[in-house]
Amino acid sequence: MTIPLIDLQLQFREIRDEVFEAFEASLSSMHLALGPNCEAFEEEWADFCETRHAVGVASGTDALQLLLHAHEIGPGDEVITPSFTFIATIEAVMLLGATPVLVDVDPETLCIDPAQVAEKIGSRTRAIIPVHIYGHPAPMDEIAELIDDRDIRLIEDAAQAHGARYRDRAVGGLGDGAAFSFYLSKNLSAYGEAGAITVDDDGLNETIRHLRVHGSTERYQHEMIGYNSRIDELQAAVLRIKLRRLATWNDARREHAARYNRNLAGIEELGLPVEKPWARHVYHLYTIRTPRRDEVAAALEQQGIDHAVHYRIPCHLQKALEPLGYERGSLPVTEQAADEVLSLPMFPELTDDQIDRVCEAVIKALG
Ligand SMILES: *Cc1c(COP(=O)(O)O)cnc(C)c1O
Repeated sequence: MTIPLIDLQLQFREIRDEVFEAFEASLSSMHLALGPNCEAFEEEWADFCETRHAVGVASGTDALQLLLHAHEIGPGDEVITPSFTFIATIEAVMLLGATPVLVDVDPETLCIDPAQVAEKIGSRTRAIIPVHIYGHPAPMDEIAELIDDRDIRLIEDAAQAHGARYRDRAVGGLGDGAAFSFYLSKNLSAYGEAGAITVDDDGLNETIRHLRVHGSTERYQHEMIGYNSRIDELQAAVLRIKLRRLATWNDARREHAARYNRNLAGIEELGLPVEKPWARHVYHLYTIRTPRRDEVAAALEQQGIDHAVHYRIPCHLQKALEPLGYERGSLPVTEQAADEVLSLPMFPELTDDQIDRVCEAVIKALG
């Protein structure tokens, strides 16, 4: 591919010396299980997210599961989530034995639709997980209003939205806890698997810290059945190095999105990403929409321009969720989006020239 969807090699070149220095120090000390980088990263991540606590765990999926577990979500409980998300959101719910209730999304932002949530809230609803999809924050206040004083937890899936803001508040501190992923492709990414949970509540923070090490409070003393889900010390070292650049990298993503938006404005049969006036989007993905998606994808392919579809099969139509009984037609906005979305190259080091070439190819394909 002449223009990749994401270029991690370029990013590595910028931080290479710092990474090897940090690895050298960590490996020399052999303090590799919840060591000093882990502790420091947790503090820095809590600062970045404007929360009291951050707990590093082994992945974003684990972050969701441990957070729901700490909130005592389990069998018999219903958890409302959008279907238009990566499967992990729903997986975490199902792994705890709870029942996901999948709802449709807002056609503009593709984030959870509060009107749909209102319809599905019931006596068994124990949690709602809005997903800040593609890097755009979900309408958290509207969901919180629906919850009112009911015993329902508001959990953010912030795996795609490091640094996004909602009405001047950082994503991660908008509800009863948030799950972040540092998977390779995310705005802040490790060189392997890693994730984090942000919370304000001291008790939850404690519980999650125990859950990630087999439910132990002291060595070989287990108060509950937990998980093996520590954040890896070397990954924490990488994350600290990258975190120092994250704000700059997110700014670059926003500039690239603005250039895409200018170049692609006013083209027929083409929908562009929306940023609500109350939102700060961090463009984890720059995803366009067109009913002629497959044609455009083929044209990009021919030009050596990488692209992807996030996500072609909505969760409610995945085979793994068949037992839940959803059918085609049950979530029409989600299904139409799945047929139309196309993610274009997006990474901080992308050049104006590359963006212009991608846009030219898109415009030509739709012309
Ligand atoms: C990446 C992602 C996850 C899962 O994170 P992992 O670190 O891959 O386990 C969960 N939810 C969403 C929306 C994601 O994009």
